[in-house]
Formats: sequence, structure tokens, C-alpha cells
Amino acid sequence: MTESREFCPRCGDAVAARPEPRPGEPRDPDRVLCNDCYFEEFDLVDAPDRIEVRVCSRCGAVHRGNRWVDVGAQDYTDIAIEEVSEALGIHMEAHDVNWEVMPEQVDQTTIRMHCQFTGLVRGSQLVEEVVVPVKIAKQTCNRCGRIAGDYYSSIVQVRATERTPTAEEIEGAEEIAHEVVEEMEATGDRNAFVTEVGETDEGLNMKLSTNKIGKKIAAKLVEEFGGSYTDSETLVTEDEDGEEVYRVTYAVRLPPYSPGEIIDPEDGDGPVLVRSVRGNLKGTRLTTGEDYEARFEEGDAPEARRLGRLADAEETTLVAVEDERAVQVLDPETYQSKTIARPDYMDADAETVPVLKSRAGLHVVPEQADDE
Ligand SMILES: [Zn+2]
Ligand SMILES: [Zn+2]
Repeated sequence: MTESREFCPRCGDAVAARPEPRPGEPRDPDRVLCNDCYFEEFDLVDAPDRIEVRVCSRCGAVHRGNRWVDVGAQDYTDIAIEEVSEALGIHMEAHDVNWEVMPEQVDQTTIRMHCQFTGLVRGSQLVEEVVVPVKIAKQTCNRCGRIAGDYYSSIVQVRATERTPTAEEIEGAEEIAHEVVEEMEATGDRNAFVTEVGETDEGLNMKLSTNKIGKKIAAKLVEEFGGSYTDSETLVTEDEDGEEVYRVTYAVRLPPYSPGEIIDPEDGDGPVLVRSVRGNLKGTRLTTGEDYEARFEEGDAPEARRLGRLADAEETTLVAVEDERAVQVLDPETYQSKTIARPDYMDADAETVPVLKSRAGLHVVPEQADDE
């Protein structure tokens, strides 16, 4: 039977042989000492004397390294806890380490962190307390500075051909802008924001923090509402390196007709309710309920007369269903019975039906969905 014996290099006491650390495992240079010598100078926790944190007083971002980081902290105490836990070092030989922290607010920008650590080292339970004062330096991050300075580097103009954009298009455009910004924020882009949204007589102008956002919004608007966009650059300044800085304007032009509009292509088959203007204009004939699609060369702008909008329709009494193709309704203006075309979307059992009276006559229109 062999007994491996080693001696403490500091006091000369015999110590039991310690297992070699596994390859790659950090090696504590003091591991050869006996327990008494080892614990004499042992620190469970390595803590800085004090921590200074730069925090954006507007958005709560924290400056780390050379950049601002969103930490999602609720308050300065949260930030202080986070920074202290980042800054503390636990001894590599310690196991089962737990810590508790008691923040003590000293003044508005100083929080004294009382931290108590427990851990297992060489089979002994250790307890250690450290106090780390955290000083909060309130500043303004780059993004908030830019927001406060109304900074923008692209503009999205929303206009429509031969009309002004509808309320749905204006609201939709704003929503899309905020969605795009949220998407970009979610990918960690701190510089994405909407600087300003303003309605004009012709439509909507939106100022955006970067060109990339402007382009994304313009493309998404066309995807959603049809039409097309062009971009143009304006030289605004030179940056500190002498590079030219351009501001890009994305001019979105929506098609002449929008969904919900009722038009007459004057081809002898009666008015059409516009359903989509993405690609070729598509709609529903008010006389029959059949589909209508503009020819390829007409695209989203077929030659047509504007008659009104689905929202202008009124409910009127359905007097009688005459046959497959005709019904009698009350004219909502004169209250006289009139025989008009019966489209296949009309509910023949209804007591009232929505109708639109226009220059093209009286037509039964589809029921409006609740969200329109
Ligand atoms: Zn010793
Ligand atoms: Zn900020």
C-alpha cells in the first residue's frame, strides 16, 4: 500500500495529494498550499472598489465598452445590480456559489451594493461580504441625442395618382413605418426611429433616422397598397471625415384607385368595386358579382369614371326578387320602387340591402366587412 504525501511549500506541513486539474481546466497556483495557508489569503469574491455606470437618462441604455446597449432595466437599482454582477469575479475554485444583494440608495445617483456571497471551497462553506458603491452618471445616448435634435436622413413621401391618399392608406402607412422600426430595433438596430410624421394637402411625409428604414418602408407600402416608388438623393453635408452625406427621399405614388372605390370602366358591363390594386386592378362587377380584372397594359390604372366608395352605400328596402338577374328595391332618394340588376353576392332573403346611387344609376353593393 502506497500513500502519496506532499508538503505545503509555505509552512511545510504534510498535505494529501491533490488530483491534477483536468486538461484545459484553469489551474489555481495556490492549490498546492495546505488548507490553513490557502484560506489565509483566500478571497471568494474579487470586486472593484467602485463602479461608475453611464446611463442614458432618456431611454435607460447603458454605456458598455464603446457603445450604448439597451438593457431593459426598470430603474437605476436594476442597472446597478446588473453592472455589479458583470464586474464581480468569483474565485475559480469555488462551487455552489450563491449571492444576495441589498441595494442601499445613498443619494439620487449613488447606490451602495451590499453583496453577500456563499460558496463551497475545499469542502468548506464560506461566506463573504463585499460593498460596492455604484455611481450612476446620467447622460444622453447617441440615439436620444439624435431624436432630441430631430435628426433624420431619409424622407418617405406618400402620394397618390390623381387623388389624395385615403384615410386607410395614411393610417396604414404610419403603422407600417412603426412596424419596420420595431423590426429593426428587434434586430439590435438602436438607430432606427421615426423622427416626424406630418400630413400635407397631398398626402403624408415621414422623416426617418436612416436611409435603410426609408427604403424598407417605401417597399412595404407598395407591397401593401400597390403603386411604385422612386428615390432621389440630396447632398446635405459632409461628415467629420469629409465624406459626403446624402439624404434620400423615397417618393411613393399609390395607384389612382384604391380598394373600396367604385369605378365604371365604361365597357358596357357596369360598375366595378375595386378589391385590389396590387399588380392589375381587380374588382367585382356590381351588376352580376363576376370578377373584373384590368388588362395587362392597363395595369392598376384602367380608363374609368369614379362613382363613389363602398362606404357611401346606404341600406334600402328589398321589395322583391324578380328573377335570377333582377330585383326591386326602394330608391333611397325618391322612395320609389326600382328594378335593378341582381348580383350573385346579394342575399335574396334579406329585408334590406346596401345600395349605391351614382351617375351610373342604382346598384346593390356587397355588405361591408366590419373592419372597413
Ligand atoms: Zn501551509
Ligand atoms: Zn437614450
